[in-house]
Amino acid sequence: MDNILGKLGIELNEQTRLTNDSSFKFNCHKGLSCYNTCCSNLDIFLTPYDILRMKNKLGISSAEFLSEYTEPVILKETKLPFMKLKLPEDGRCRFVADEGCTIYDDRPLACRYYPIGFGIYKNENAGDDFYFLIKEDHCKGFGEEKEWKVGEWRKSQQIDDYDDKNRVWMDVILDKKIYSPDLEPDEKSLKMFFMASYDIDSFREFMFESRFLQVFEVDEDLLEIVRNDETELMLFAHQWLQYALFKKPTMRLRNSEA
Ligand code: SF4
Ligand code: SF4
Repeated sequence: MDNILGKLGIELNEQTRLTNDSSFKFNCHKGLSCYNTCCSNLDIFLTPYDILRMKNKLGISSAEFLSEYTEPVILKETKLPFMKLKLPEDGRCRFVADEGCTIYDDRPLACRYYPIGFGIYKNENAGDDFYFLIKEDHCKGFGEEKEWKVGEWRKSQQIDDYDDKNRVWMDVILDKKIYSPDLEPDEKSLKMFFMASYDIDSFREFMFESRFLQVFEVDEDLLEIVRNDETELMLFAHQWLQYALFKKPTMRLRNSEA
């Protein structure tokens, strides 16, 4: 977190650290000289729910979306693959047009948060999440009069819904075991993480067209739900990941007392 804040030239202190009740002035709209300029040269990390929404918006499979629109980034702290939106050579997001974002209703979480950044503690202080403003010189939105509280901004951008859908996955990537310097995930773990995190169509195949249901006992009602609702399938995949990576009791093996 310190590195990201450092790159943005933000020093976290009582003034810059925000809560849901903190106020700020901001308005982004067509007509500002900076309109659309911020959709270039940025690192947009994608969450599993971002990928699900975006690939459905584009009407393509998760595998196609991942290969065409993303690139992996391995963070040295976790050695796990995270996915970034791939930008073309000119650095301009492929979804930006003169009228704005062409996938606005399904834009990723990072775009929804902007111009707010957020921090999450990955240890005992979990729950003490915080926010800060990303106040860049080129952004004219801060010169506008409209006033927001951080909580209102989050609501207007449907951030709570996204956070809810990514909650189990966030628990996985914030688990202390992931940050152990001794962690050396093998190829199988990396593939499991990638599939359950980002490639929902492959996870569906894995669940319904392999021995998965012979190995795991899944309640009939739940099975029906995940068969028909892709978002529920994604949440189920993340619970399976908790079992597969950390042996959390989120799955029940057949012929097991557990
Ligand atoms: S996804 Fe939309 S809002 Fe996000 S950078 Fe691209 S054009 Fe801008
Ligand atoms: S730079 Fe700021 S005000 Fe301008 S388009 Fe981007 S977010 Fe909106």
